Amino acid sequence: MKYAQSVLDLIGNTPLIKLNHVTEGIKATVLVKLEYVNPGGSIKDRIAAKMVEEAERDGKLKPGGTIIEPTSGNTGVGLALVAQQKGYKCIFVVPDKVGEDKRAVLEAYGAEVVVTPTAVEPDSPQSYYGVSDRLVTEIPGAYKPDQFSNPAAPRSHYETTGPEIWRDTDGKVTHCVIGAGTGGTITGTGRYLKEVSADRPESDGGRVRIIGADPEGSVYSGGTGRPYFVEGVGEDMWPANYDKAVPDQVLAVSDADSFEMTRRLAREEGLLVGGSSGMAVVAALRVARDLPEDAVVVVILPDSGRGYLAKIFNDQWMRSYGFLSGGEESSVGEVLK
Ligand code: PMP
Repeated sequence: MKYAQSVLDLIGNTPLIKLNHVTEGIKATVLVKLEYVNPGGSIKDRIAAKMVEEAERDGKLKPGGTIIEPTSGNTGVGLALVAQQKGYKCIFVVPDKVGEDKRAVLEAYGAEVVVTPTAVEPDSPQSYYGVSDRLVTEIPGAYKPDQFSNPAAPRSHYETTGPEIWRDTDGKVTHCVIGAGTGGTITGTGRYLKEVSADRPESDGGRVRIIGADPEGSVYSGGTGRPYFVEGVGEDMWPANYDKAVPDQVLAVSDADSFEMTRRLAREEGLLVGGSSGMAVVAALRVARDLPEDAVVVVILPDSGRGYLAKIFNDQWMRSYGFLSGGEESSVGEVLK
């Protein structure tokens, strides 16, 4: 019989898939690592498992404990499923601007969601940071993982994501393209790939180059932190888990280019992924354009497109922000008009 002991055993070991259509004119091999096949639907399951495991080991989380984190996104889902499997309570503190459907997902996994007002200063006791800090002190046995500074987050990628890429490419990967949000993925995966390839001869590809993909406006690519629409990536400050020494290069990608590629990945490659995936593929193709046939470019695709159907995959939403340049509108929509 072949079965997993629990969903936790299905975290990681995600597949690599070759891009065949959006890569027209490119000689290098471009492979994507599909993180939406993790049980919680994103790459964040990896850090959730590792942060909880290390907190248990260090005695920060004990039986009957409660995990508290200010997050509404993929990290929340990862923590919710790891917590319930291991018997912990989970409380997520989210600002009221977070959509009903995102809260519903967390509640479906059995987590408690505390909603705080958006229209307060970040240092106000009513802000979601303020409320989560208060809950941590008030609730006995509470533990706040803090994905922005917890070293277990990059460590999970150093121990799993990086080695999987090296193993599955038979040590032939030459470039790895990664979007950065908290920085955990690029720091851990990039550090591992650079270390493992440090002594590889130039004739075999030399040291793996790590390329950061970043929304235009974010600080990682030299922006001021001005807003952009791609979710989950970019920052307006420098988190502790982002190691500037890891990326060899960081490329800025516009919202329009990110979303156009996200839609092409669904239509042409059969990959329904999120906007940060489209963004990373745009950066990867810019790098791959100038590379020879024997180059192997790996791009990490962090999550599924299911959470973005009302935005990136909705013509009206896209048009209202000027992201639809023509040619990619839904033809069914045209017929129904
Ligand atoms: N894409 C999406 C959709 C995400 O949710 C995240 C996590 N914030 C990332 C990319 C970036 O990952 P990291 O936080 O490890 O930099």
